[in-house]
Amino acid sequence: AQIHTKAYAAMDAKGKLAPYEFDRRSVGDNDLLIDILYSGICHSDIHTVKGDWGQIPYPCVPGHEIVGRVIQIGKNVHKFKVGDIAGVGCMVNSCGECEYCKAGEEQFCTGNGGPVWTYGSAEGDSYTKGGYATNIIVKESFVIKIPKNAPLAKVAPLLCAGITTYSPLRYNKVKKGDKVAVAGFGGLGHMAVQYAKSMGAEVDVFDITEDKRKAASEMGAAKYVNTTNTQEMDGLNSKYNLIISTIPVSFKVEPYLQMLKTDGTMVLIGVPAHDQIPVVNVMALFGRRKMYHSLIGGIRETQEMIDYSVKNNIYAQVEVIPVQRINEAYQHILDGKVQFRYVIDMKSLK
Ligand code: NDP
Ligand code: ZN
Repeated sequence: AQIHTKAYAAMDAKGKLAPYEFDRRSVGDNDLLIDILYSGICHSDIHTVKGDWGQIPYPCVPGHEIVGRVIQIGKNVHKFKVGDIAGVGCMVNSCGECEYCKAGEEQFCTGNGGPVWTYGSAEGDSYTKGGYATNIIVKESFVIKIPKNAPLAKVAPLLCAGITTYSPLRYNKVKKGDKVAVAGFGGLGHMAVQYAKSMGAEVDVFDITEDKRKAASEMGAAKYVNTTNTQEMDGLNSKYNLIISTIPVSFKVEPYLQMLKTDGTMVLIGVPAHDQIPVVNVMALFGRRKMYHSLIGGIRETQEMIDYSVKNNIYAQVEVIPVQRINEAYQHILDGKVQFRYVIDMKSLK
């Protein structure tokens, strides 16, 4: 039988969310039915519903930072049992056969048109719907195990903000003594700071909101640079091994590239609207500097990130809200007024 779901959805590119009900597919042999407890609000949700990255099908139920309790399992499910705590991130399926899926990097899947995203991807004659909802049905192999005693509201944002920052830090083998800069100190940025610190790096933070200076130092940042005062960027050239940008809007990339050491790397994680993509003067890469874009992380690495976070006591700083405050929360995120992640308590919808 199909599963009835209460949710919040955007109905058009104005991006205002409203109550919406629909039925999910029935629980298949390899599926889990998860009763959603908490759902984080990622800036990508806002980009998506507003059509920043292109047209999408509506109604759109966003949400890809999901933590919940398993309430039903298909007959082939072995890793989970009813009552377990489960996490779901940005992907719910992939081809499973291409070289990237086989390597555990499902986010780069090249089969069947790429990964099935948690919301907005084609699925049967409809499309997937995400975590601002009372429940979700996901194939076991795309579900992450969460320890029962973890602080679940603070764990939810790890499913996107956590893995997206953990993955490039690991890929670049960040170690003790490295100098790392994090540009954009929001939901993703504050996770990047915590992970980089825990790997032994000295971390500087770049943002545009003076109010965040104190939080940066409390989180262990060596320096907070308010880039609205360009003088604060003086004297930092050739300082960093690694720069991670989570900036969600257009910005001048060259001054950051200048701050890389020879052989340093800048990782772009922030994905501005398609009419705001920065253009870069490639000569700023002089000195064997490198730049690339990083996309979330594979399922295996997402599990590793959860285990690492719990072991090292690294969580998101969250403000838990009822779903009815979602539109206000979206505006606050755009205005720089959230420290650092809104998480919806799904009880408010049940
Ligand atoms: P947030 O809004 O929580 O954080 C963005 C931060 O960037 C805010 O602190 C904001 O400042 C700051 N900022 C804005 N403009 C500038 C600027 N010119 N210079 C420095 N800092 C600036 O967003 P998220 O962390 O949730 O997401 C960030 C981006 O990452 C989004 O574009 C999102 O879509 C993308 N993303 C990409 C993923 C991937 O796999 N590549 C996965 C998830 C998200 P303030 O708030 O202080 O005004
Ligand atoms: Zn996200």
